[in-house]
Amino acid sequence: MQTLLNKGAILVISGPSGCGKSSLLKEVYKAVDNYYFSISTTTRAPRTGEKDGVDYFFVSKEEFEKDIHEGYFLEHAKVHGNYYGTSLKSIISSLNAGKLVIFDIDVQGHRIVKQQLHDVTTSVFITTPTLKELENRLLSRNTDDSSTIKKRIENAKKEIKQIDKYDYFIMNDNLQEASQLLVSIAKAAQAKTKLFNIEDIIKYWNKEV
Ligand code: ADP
Ligand code: 5GP
Repeated sequence: MQTLLNKGAILVISGPSGCGKSSLLKEVYKAVDNYYFSISTTTRAPRTGEKDGVDYFFVSKEEFEKDIHEGYFLEHAKVHGNYYGTSLKSIISSLNAGKLVIFDIDVQGHRIVKQQLHDVTTSVFITTPTLKELENRLLSRNTDDSSTIKKRIENAKKEIKQIDKYDYFIMNDNLQEASQLLVSIAKAAQAKTKLFNIEDIIKYWNKEV
């Protein structure tokens, strides 16, 4: 089937910071071969353990603004007071290589990606079962100070109102069940009819055996 794929697919994952997106994605990476995780560029400071070029490309506000003016981004947004953006070039080359391109981006970014690449995009909104549980996870992750956590909680209250803009919704309560669901959605994202060239399929199907 991979050889008949006309182009790659996009999987957008959004949800409040701390709901478990990175934890769930680890299972997707094990289950899907041909994927590219879109490494975003950000002006926020790295957390302990985060590496430049792995988790994000960490840049200054000046560098980010220069990149905006030079048309470097497919989309960019200000989240919790910092810039975040997705580079266009790496996305295009991964799509042309037929990969599943995975974005962990906020609701503003999702809106733009959907506008521009609707046919190849599948989106999932993830939350914790409750707001209180979100706070617990942010506290137990122990990577942000209390004012940052407060900002993330306030943003989460706004973001959750956008669930209906997404194709799928996952409540990340039991990690194993939620990751199985995300893996199924990631696989379905690669089976969208719009990703295939119908003429190639018919030619292949009519082949004499
Ligand atoms: P995000 O990438 O959305 O910011 P993380 O994957 O970093 O979130 O998860 C935030 C914290 O919650 C981490 O400490 C992680 O181990 C924990 N976590 C993730 N999923 C669950 C779950 N289903 N139940 C309990 N804790 C979880
Ligand atoms: P964090 O600081 O917790 O890594 O991410 C904060 C928020 O920014 C999350 O909601 C995450 O999905 C979002 N985000 C990360 N990268 C991008 C990006 O490139 N574009 C947009 N629009 N949002 C992003």
